[in-house]
Amino acid sequence: MPGIGPNTRLAELHVHLGGSVDPSVMWEVAHAQGIRLPTKNYWRFVDLVTVRPGRAKSFKGYLDLFRWTELIQSSPTAIERSVYQTIAGAYRKNNITLLELRFNPMKRNRGGEQDLDHIMMAAVRGLDRAELEYPVKTGLIVCLDRGFSLRQNEVLVEKAAKYAARGVVGVDVAGPYSKGFRYSSLKQLYRKARREGLGLTVHAGEDEGASSVRDVVEHLEPDRIGHGVRASEDEKTMDLLRERGTVLEVCPTSNLQTGVVKDIGELKRVFAALKSRRVRFTINTDGPEMLTTNLRGEIRMLTGKGVLAEREVEEANRTAFEAAFAQRRKV
Ligand SMILES: [Zn+2]
Repeated sequence: MPGIGPNTRLAELHVHLGGSVDPSVMWEVAHAQGIRLPTKNYWRFVDLVTVRPGRAKSFKGYLDLFRWTELIQSSPTAIERSVYQTIAGAYRKNNITLLELRFNPMKRNRGGEQDLDHIMMAAVRGLDRAELEYPVKTGLIVCLDRGFSLRQNEVLVEKAAKYAARGVVGVDVAGPYSKGFRYSSLKQLYRKARREGLGLTVHAGEDEGASSVRDVVEHLEPDRIGHGVRASEDEKTMDLLRERGTVLEVCPTSNLQTGVVKDIGELKRVFAALKSRRVRFTINTDGPEMLTTNLRGEIRMLTGKGVLAEREVEEANRTAFEAAFAQRRKV
């Protein structure tokens, strides 16, 4: 039967660990570690780490939410549980059988207090356990940061390469806009990551315009781009994406909540532009728990509001399976 049914296996490529763990698990993990939270009230805590429909936050406000989740996840125990829970939950609730999970280990080691290798191995253990228990294929993506020094980002690429055989499948660049940052400064690091067999993706065309997408494609030559929706503002950028076969990881609810995309009408225009220019795209949540959505919710929203037809969603899902870095894993 055509269409996306409950038994259809889904793939999701753009999920931040800091936005994908159930608040109740985060609450328990925070308490287990004796972290002093700004509230003793559970429901206020939920408000602190989630964005709800009708209560949109600014782009910066959205990134600020990660402050708490990153702090709570700053230990090997917390990382292992977070990785495991995210993959297990995605399979049980959404039948996601291929999931790539991204995080910045250097934002989870309390400024160097915790050893990065312990954090990386904890993530690998979470991955292994989830793959043992459920029929899923997974991979970790290490996020470099726009606000980090070149040396810090270099260490992150080294860690990604070191754990490539254990489940790290790619690198990304994320984090808030930082004055003076140039994507071109990461050119050598991205080349190194490519030589190590890692998949390459970069956040661009989200808070910054189409020129950021062009910049990234020309200097870093990624396989995929995180978001990239603002490429739709420029014909030449869309042509470039199609020629290079670069795949966009579009996160509709995230873009609506942060105001990157104004409303459903604009979302329709974005997708219409991508389709007419034959730019390949996938559908993602960015962080299901933080954005109080999930992949099936995104699909329902897109088809329900007439943004995409059912067959277009199916094609996006096929593209996700094809463009997944996790497919390259030997084990
Ligand atoms: Zn993202």
